[in-house]
Amino acid sequence: MDVERETLSLDVLFVGAGPACLAGAIHLAGLSRAAGLDLEIGLIEKGAAPGAHCISGALVEPGPLASLFGDLEAAGCPIQGTVRTDRMLALTPRSAFRLPWVPPFLDNRGCLVVSLSRLAAWMGEKAEEAGVNLFCGFAGQEVLFSLDGRGVAGVRTGDRGLDASGNPKARFEPGTDILARVTVFGEGARGNLLAQVDRKLSLFAGREPQAFEVGVKQVLEVAETSPLAGEPGTVIHTLGFPLGREVAGGGFLYPMGQGLVSAGLVGTLNRHPGFDPHEAFEAFLAHPYIERLLAGGRVVEHGARTLSVGGPRTMPRLAVDGALFVGDSASMLDPRRLKGVGGAVISGVLAARAAFRAMVLGNAGEEILSTYKKELVKNPLFSYLWRARNFHQALARPGLARWAYLAAQEASGGRGFRDPLPGRNRPAPRQKVGKIPPDARKMQTGIARGGQNLYVDKRTGVFLSGTRQEEDQPCHLIIHEKSLCLGRCTREYRNPCLRFCPAGVYEIEEDSAGTRRLKLNPSNCLHCKTCEIQDPYGNIRWTCPEGGGGPGYRMA
Ligand code: SF4
Repeated sequence: MDVERETLSLDVLFVGAGPACLAGAIHLAGLSRAAGLDLEIGLIEKGAAPGAHCISGALVEPGPLASLFGDLEAAGCPIQGTVRTDRMLALTPRSAFRLPWVPPFLDNRGCLVVSLSRLAAWMGEKAEEAGVNLFCGFAGQEVLFSLDGRGVAGVRTGDRGLDASGNPKARFEPGTDILARVTVFGEGARGNLLAQVDRKLSLFAGREPQAFEVGVKQVLEVAETSPLAGEPGTVIHTLGFPLGREVAGGGFLYPMGQGLVSAGLVGTLNRHPGFDPHEAFEAFLAHPYIERLLAGGRVVEHGARTLSVGGPRTMPRLAVDGALFVGDSASMLDPRRLKGVGGAVISGVLAARAAFRAMVLGNAGEEILSTYKKELVKNPLFSYLWRARNFHQALARPGLARWAYLAAQEASGGRGFRDPLPGRNRPAPRQKVGKIPPDARKMQTGIARGGQNLYVDKRTGVFLSGTRQEEDQPCHLIIHEKSLCLGRCTREYRNPCLRFCPAGVYEIEEDSAGTRRLKLNPSNCLHCKTCEIQDPYGNIRWTCPEGGGGPGYRMA
């Protein structure tokens, strides 16, 4: 829109108040203070507050956080507990078998049980104390490129107060152009600003295709009699049911103390048309063993997000002129150990050091900023990531082949039968079905037990995520070719958007004359970005809605 915009100039701008950018901003503020530089550091966040859009397991290795904050307890870090025992279960539809052995890479003893939203809120306070300017409720809408078009100059925040047709309302405020010598992008998996930079500067050229999983998670209050009600200490991971041959992944139960339990299910996004992550999660809760553990419980918070699990070969270029990429959006998550927060913190800190170096030298060119990648490769984090370089690609194989590939990788330091192992993120032709495939039917069997507080439908889940979004605003979900939805997509895949969206944003209505119409409920969006990844035709683009809306996680 052609309007006069304010301009704000900073030294370094961080985009996204997740652990990567918050750690980076805090570390950079410390470096700046120690050097007497007084750098202007800003951080924009699309959620109403730091942590509002953060959701994760989350078991966190204490090392990276402790290197930033020292004694975590003394610093007031919101730790729910410490893991003392891991339990690994294989689930069949009716039974659970405890595996006698937990693979060493899944040994979580000593890890901290945290709520990621609480952790981010606490880190936000620390960032403000350190002198970082936090701008919450400001969504990065557009990347501003340098005049020569070869680098990044900053970010334009989204306009606020537009109606559904894009016309200004009485409270209209144009977005601000925030210019920075260095911009650090840490938007989480499938960042839409990162995608803009990629379209201009080919960040992913020569890389393996990115790969994703989706997780649905709840925080539950369990009955006093539940074995999970006591102090945190034993964490449970599950394999098998309800995920089938085509969708791999697993479930988890992490006691958080005070009668709260974090429960979740993560599954691969390989465009399997029958996969309904919400229903799969409900089936997981309805498994007889899990249901016994959670009996009498009630859901207090619900949410979903995607994870970027492709490993180091799917990392974008980590630096361009004027910009750095950190955290989950830059594939820093270790899919083999299911750890993302520590890697995010490390990447944020290393990016902060590169940005600081650029400030000191007065040169924010790619060559100077690339010290970030050089330092990252030397960090132990990278050796873990490298060990997992083919992990997700093996996990995404169907049936028994998955286990053969994984076993070969374990025996060969990550190499396996093929290195690199190609990803598998397209549906096989036989999955173009006229009916919901068997895996999805199996996933739905457990839902018959609904009606208890333990089970919520998608709409109630949205309510329990604290999602609030202004309804009268332009739709942030762009459907490139609408005719595809009711024609080819219905014939070939039976409209998988009706299943894969964990918030029920996509609906197809039919009037009395039998005319079908795609209806969107964008104000229910959980910002998980599953639709952009899982749509078999790539027909959906997720853009950032007006800042300040979306989920309002407090315990997730
Ligand atoms: Fe997730 Fe897309 Fe549904 Fe929003 S519309 S909740 S981003 S799948």
